[in-house]
Amino acid sequence: MSLKKISSTTTDRVIAGRLSRRRFLSLAGTGIIVGTLAQVRRAEAKTSQRAARYQDTPKGDKSCSGCKLFLADENACRVVEGVISPNGYCRFWVRS
Ligand code: SF4
Repeated sequence: MSLKKISSTTTDRVIAGRLSRRRFLSLAGTGIIVGTLAQVRRAEAKTSQRAARYQDTPKGDKSCSGCKLFLADENACRVVEGVISPNGYCRFWVRS
């Protein structure tokens, strides 16, 4: 079985919650798990702007540009979906 096939299968199992902790750790030990976590992370859904109570204006001195979760290069956020303004704010704000 190729490394790519093993990695894809592993990702599917991790996402489905069917991969045992022991198997996960053994794969991590062999290096097969490298790249798999990044794929799982990408597969995670972000929170909607509505659920995050996102607003496109700051709250006091708190704004997305000062938040640890803001991705300035992409006008995006690690946890909230959609286009995010540097002047925005939501309930997940974390000081950077
Ligand atoms: S978590 Fe909220 S405050 Fe922080 S960057 Fe994302 S949308 Fe802005």
